[in-house]
Amino acid sequence: MEFATFAARAGEIDAEDADLEIVDLVSDLLVAAGDAPAGDRDELEIVSRFVQGRVFPAWEQTTLDIGPSACYEAIARAAGRNVTAADVEDRLAEVGEIGAVAASYEFGGQRGLGAFGAGNGVDDLTVAEVADTLEAVAAAEGAGSQDRKVDLLFGLFNRCESEEARYLARLVLSEMRIGVGEGTVRDAVADAFGVPAEDVERALQVSNDYGRVARVAREAGLEGLAEMDLEVGRPVQAMLAQAGTVTDALADWETAAVEWKYDGARVQLHHDPTGETRLFSRNMEDVTNALPEIVEFAEETLETTAILDGEVVAVDDGGEPLPFQNVLRRFRRKHDVARAREDVTVRPAFFDCLHADGEDYLERPLTERHDRLEALLADGETAPEAVEGLSLLWLTDDADEIEAIDADALEAGHEGIMLKDPGSTYSPGRRGKHWRKRKPDVETLDCVVTGAEWGEGRRATYLGTFELSVRTDDGFEPVGKVATGITDERLAELTELLEPHILAQDGQEVDLEPAVVFEVGYEEIQRSPTYSSGFALRFPRFLAVRDDKEPADADSLERVRTLRS
Ligand code: AMP
Repeated sequence: MEFATFAARAGEIDAEDADLEIVDLVSDLLVAAGDAPAGDRDELEIVSRFVQGRVFPAWEQTTLDIGPSACYEAIARAAGRNVTAADVEDRLAEVGEIGAVAASYEFGGQRGLGAFGAGNGVDDLTVAEVADTLEAVAAAEGAGSQDRKVDLLFGLFNRCESEEARYLARLVLSEMRIGVGEGTVRDAVADAFGVPAEDVERALQVSNDYGRVARVAREAGLEGLAEMDLEVGRPVQAMLAQAGTVTDALADWETAAVEWKYDGARVQLHHDPTGETRLFSRNMEDVTNALPEIVEFAEETLETTAILDGEVVAVDDGGEPLPFQNVLRRFRRKHDVARAREDVTVRPAFFDCLHADGEDYLERPLTERHDRLEALLADGETAPEAVEGLSLLWLTDDADEIEAIDADALEAGHEGIMLKDPGSTYSPGRRGKHWRKRKPDVETLDCVVTGAEWGEGRRATYLGTFELSVRTDDGFEPVGKVATGITDERLAELTELLEPHILAQDGQEVDLEPAVVFEVGYEEIQRSPTYSSGFALRFPRFLAVRDDKEPADADSLERVRTLRS
């Protein structure tokens, strides 16, 4: 297919607003690309990517590795002797969009390295030639590679007519923006080759390669699409979560799968015992080299091919989780990894299994995937809670039990909990209702601390599990307890603050004189026979000490009543 044809159709798509019309236009484009004489390359694959502004499949790590200024330079050179990269930039500042800038010059006829073609500088550039050249741009590495990239791009622009230049410039700078998203290509492939959109969608999820899916749909139809599987070493998009409450989760599913929410960075592990172990970030970037201990963990633990989904958490010397910023110091690190590893240790917490031992698990229910995960990581003897690298999953329909799991998660230094639909499949790239992170607190309350409990073991000298009360006309009434879910340092500070106010002690329990005010978050307020106030905070969370407030300034029972209604 001539690149000019692609550009003309991209222009039509660009000018169209209606979604269905866009799908039709893209579908026509795909059919045309599929019908064009294929030559050495399948232009349908290329066009399916170009139309989305992609040069390479989503899972590939390859990038053009070219900055805007190199592109301006190439445009300037193709535009003629009198044009400089600074002129291109000035024009960009005026018109605001690189495609329009590129289209505003007259190219062709500029001689020099890379100005190949039919002699007059303008000839029939094909889609395949553009793809070949852009691959060469990506492949140029090392000394002098930026010049080589500019030369190659100049060669392309030099052969472009105005409309071709418009879409070439946008493609190079990842600014295609003609309104073609992933859903459009899915529907267009389905329409162009007569296959159901759901099957295209599934094939896209497992392959992450629109070009390949389009080609398979054309060549092998539905059967071919159904045969497309996950491949160890090729990342898929991560399933995402939305915010939600425990109440809604239990109403929707009856039983919820509850997991700790780790405060780290998402990682997808691809392991082949006879080949490589690779790690990918949430954006499918290869982060293998930055996280050698995760690779070692996989090599020591996994005996079969596997694709696992999880979170990488930074831990201190005692194995306690450290805040997220520490993970960032390790993630994507390219240099001095060994040194960084000495400073910050990371551990995996895997919560899902997408593939094991040659079988894909995406379409199995969560509980089955988690069982498979556990079987992969466990040695058959260790209790699940002690299995290294395994995130536990609890099945429950009891909000109190969920609250206890949440308190444990906070206590262990994690972010809170995730609620998942136990029967749900794994949907790559989807932010659906099947995974919910417990909703962030909307309201906060300032409560007086009226009691506490001494901790146990390592924390025996600290006060924890604080009783929270609100003001009434004649004193204070309790509305809940909060286990801080914070570091030992914080507990030590709070103990120091509260200990002078101990009125009485009974075993581990202490009564406190109302003196200190905590700001707490919560999910909801419930009616409760447990507390004399008649109300209980569901999922209370310690947020801060309000040292600017006296007990008399704390929130009142009246406010709790109002918030509840
Ligand atoms: P957020 O980044 O706030 O949208 O929360 C979702 C993220 O939490 C996921 O992308 C994961 O990186 C992370 N996460 C931590 N623990 C879990 C878990 N048990 N299940 C799923 N995601 C988790």
